[in-house]
Amino acid sequence: MGAGYHSIDLARFALRPGEGRRLELEAYPGQLELGGQGYTIAGDSVPTRLDLSRTATGYAVRMRFVAHVDGPCMRCLGDADVALEVDAREVDQPESDDEELQSPYIDGDELDLAGWAHDALTLALPLQLLCRPDCKGLCPVCGASLNDVDTAEHRHEPEPDPRWAKLRELG
Ligand SMILES: [Zn+2]
Ligand SMILES: [Zn+2]
Repeated sequence: MGAGYHSIDLARFALRPGEGRRLELEAYPGQLELGGQGYTIAGDSVPTRLDLSRTATGYAVRMRFVAHVDGPCMRCLGDADVALEVDAREVDQPESDDEELQSPYIDGDELDLAGWAHDALTLALPLQLLCRPDCKGLCPVCGASLNDVDTAEHRHEPEPDPRWAKLRELG
């Protein structure tokens, strides 16, 4: 396992244009937010592979990692632990007029690894974060998790007919 970094000074590798370097390190994506819920990264940091290349006037970087995201299942509120794979690239050519070639995560020789890992992971989040793909959710009547019960047996008596209550009052 490599050392952990929030940001990296790319100048210290003293790469010449055309040269590259592969780095194995730990990135800190921080907390994630989805649908008003907070999700944490198991272990805080994730082992990350960075492929760094020096271009004529800047850098090209590829970042890859797999993160385990923990938080409440969106259907049953139980524990969800989802492995998300990130494979992202950034190019920074400070002299270019093209905004696509100006990475928001690279400022001069400084790579904002934590910010990039956070945003890339947010983009990788599924719209529905579930404890399992076929999560059955909660019973609309009593709120029990339908994953834990036999759904064929889990039934509720229908509301008593109000007419019967009336009859009982009369009796
Ligand atoms: Zn669930
Ligand atoms: Zn129920």
